[in-house]
Amino acid sequence: MSTRKRAGAFGYRDILLALREIGLEGDARILVIGPSLIPETVRGGVAALTAALASACKTVIAPAFTYQTMVYPAEGPPDNAVDYPEASAASVEADFFRPSLRVSPLLGPLPETLRRMEGSVRSGHPILSFTGLGAKEILESQSLAEPFAPIDALAKAGGDVIVLGMDPPANVALHLAEQRTGRKPFVRWALTPQGVVECPGFPGCSRGFETIEEKLAGVIQRGMVGSFPVIRIPLRDLLNIAAGWIRQDPQAMLCTNSDCPFCSAARRFNQDHPAG
Ligand SMILES: [Zn+2]
Repeated sequence: MSTRKRAGAFGYRDILLALREIGLEGDARILVIGPSLIPETVRGGVAALTAALASACKTVIAPAFTYQTMVYPAEGPPDNAVDYPEASAASVEADFFRPSLRVSPLLGPLPETLRRMEGSVRSGHPILSFTGLGAKEILESQSLAEPFAPIDALAKAGGDVIVLGMDPPANVALHLAEQRTGRKPFVRWALTPQGVVECPGFPGCSRGFETIEEKLAGVIQRGMVGSFPVIRIPLRDLLNIAAGWIRQDPQAMLCTNSDCPFCSAARRFNQDHPAG
């Protein structure tokens, strides 16, 4: 790594100022995505970042997904992007869902830190839970049938999505736009203390999500905290733009990997269910 242009260290106060610069004040309500990694230049690390978000906003929620609870039957619905024999053999590794279960590390370190903060609540979906502060009612909107309802509730409350870092995890709000427009959903199963629970409305692949960026001119705000990018998008605008795009082009945001089982299934579903 080149150190010639290394950015200076920054901490809680700098993060708070940067959040203010993109308009986040005391009554802001946000869904936060990312970062995958916390730069070494962040003094206080993920704890400082999470505390600054909590301080800047009235409501902060983040996906607290637990892919480690997923189990598969030996046979199941067809065209569900599952290799049942292989997946069911691997299911012996699964952990059962409980509110204290660690958030999947695939979501980066922030959601687990947020979950552990005093006053934080978590919804009860055994794979797709959300966690947050000042978020009780919003998180209570979630059900097995409507896993992304908290994002809908936050959008209706005038909330924003904040995306942090260079290579953040997928913006899960776009899965809500996919479901609103009738894109193919999948079925998954989770291990819980009460047994195996079927989870409908499971989202597909997010590898093509970054293609939305070119559609967001005019609604996206960009800032920097040190070398660390911050993006703010009003959720209502994001959902309307994404849903409008999928209605216009049913393949919008599907990935380009021809072997992707999710996007291939979504394309087949589109052929069998033409819009109109
Ligand atoms: Zn894909």
